[in-house]
Amino acid sequence: MSLPRIAIAGFQHETNTFAPMPTKFEDFQLAGAWPGMMRGAPVLETFTGLNIPLSGFIDAGDDMELVPIFWGGAEPGGYVDQDGFDRMVAMICEDIAAAGPLDGIYLDLHGAMVTDDFEDGEGEVLRRVRAVVGDDMPIAVSLDLHGNQTKAFVGLATVVTIYRTYPHIDMAETGARARALLGQVLERGKPFAKAFRQVDYMVPIQAQSTMREPCKQIYEDMAALEGGDIVSVDLATGFPPADVHHCGASLVAYGQTQVQADEAADELLAIMNAAEKDFHDPLIPAEEAVRQAIELARTASKPIAIADPQDNPGAGATGDTTGVLEALIKRGARKACLAMLWDPDTAARAHEVGIGGTFQASVGGRFPQLGCQPVNVPVTVEALSDGSFMCTGPMYGGSQAELGPMATLLIEEGGCEVRVVVGSVRTQNADQAMFRHIGIDPTSQDIAVIKSAVHFLADYQPISETVLFADAPGANPCKLAQIGYRKLRKGVRLGANGPAFEGAEQ
Ligand SMILES: [Zn+2]
Repeated sequence: MSLPRIAIAGFQHETNTFAPMPTKFEDFQLAGAWPGMMRGAPVLETFTGLNIPLSGFIDAGDDMELVPIFWGGAEPGGYVDQDGFDRMVAMICEDIAAAGPLDGIYLDLHGAMVTDDFEDGEGEVLRRVRAVVGDDMPIAVSLDLHGNQTKAFVGLATVVTIYRTYPHIDMAETGARARALLGQVLERGKPFAKAFRQVDYMVPIQAQSTMREPCKQIYEDMAALEGGDIVSVDLATGFPPADVHHCGASLVAYGQTQVQADEAADELLAIMNAAEKDFHDPLIPAEEAVRQAIELARTASKPIAIADPQDNPGAGATGDTTGVLEALIKRGARKACLAMLWDPDTAARAHEVGIGGTFQASVGGRFPQLGCQPVNVPVTVEALSDGSFMCTGPMYGGSQAELGPMATLLIEEGGCEVRVVVGSVRTQNADQAMFRHIGIDPTSQDIAVIKSAVHFLADYQPISETVLFADAPGANPCKLAQIGYRKLRKGVRLGANGPAFEGAEQ
């Protein structure tokens, strides 16, 4: 018997509608922490063995004939340029149309793509693919836990499965689960019944980690709902820095019957509603975070980690704001390190000057609209790299980073001792290799400042005495009640127990 022929493609973007830089076709061509754009056969070779949903799908068995179509993923950022989106989706649709007879399709999507013209990017991808293959073709989709799902999107997908960890250590596993669900649909010969629900409150990113409560318990309770006639239940805690109607947490459930799917969805919704009181926001002002870190470091046996979530490039922020760096200098922090600050000009200058050289730097802060300035200080170049290194942590381990010219700069202004890693390709710090490959062992430091919101926890929490979350400038606003939303649905609460959105002020 011939194996079912399944077309596979990945097209991922997490769009922060508050980010100042648009996301263009060229950004999808670039390789960053993940591979750059490709079509056809190279997809299979490139993706085998990585912690990426597409990889998990590919690696999960030999019971399907896989037809590799496309991969495109860009670092989170501003609106996806409409022309670029149209070109990429056209490639996917053309190659699916040319793929010959298919039994199913798997799409590795993010769930929070917003283009110039479409608030629901993934829904539009599915509409265009459906226009090619028709309504009956089984289409399995995996999503990031930070998806903002619409009812229309869930309606167009045959099955949706979503990461269940944040940090996302289960990306490959989620792809494998999509494959298993698709296999069940093919075997059954018809789709499962499905149910979709939106949660009435939004959860700020920094409170979403599944390594911490209440999400840890929520995801355990969710998994317990599965079994028997409940085929699959998944929750997306949502991506708040997106001013779109459907922004926020949502869930999907699949069952043998509609009643079963609805019941499972309602149970998970009840779990989310009961947990609303348990969410809290860990953000503290940057200077206070540094003060506490210096104090705690006196007796700690491991470094104090300070996250800078509002400048998390992984959520589309610039990665170049200087709020925490200024606080470190002002407070005279010693044995402190910070990575990664996106500053191609300063990195280039450091490469000109060379190791051991000193120069007057103007570090970061290139977007004054975000409320911060460059830090003007003399620096000593301690180490240089070409930004090409292998990641080693639980999330990106095995991935090759290509971050362009990088440098470690020592700042001793006013008696502080702060090492800043500057780089040329905007990237979240979710892996210790970002420090280690350029001469800094974070475990030898008192304070490690990390431009990330949550993903860093996977690799950094085990080496940290404690983790503080600093409130500093950045394009990934984490205080939902203070964000100038205009397009949310009326009544959704801005954070757990937060105020209800009543529409934009006129
Ligand atoms: Zn995510």
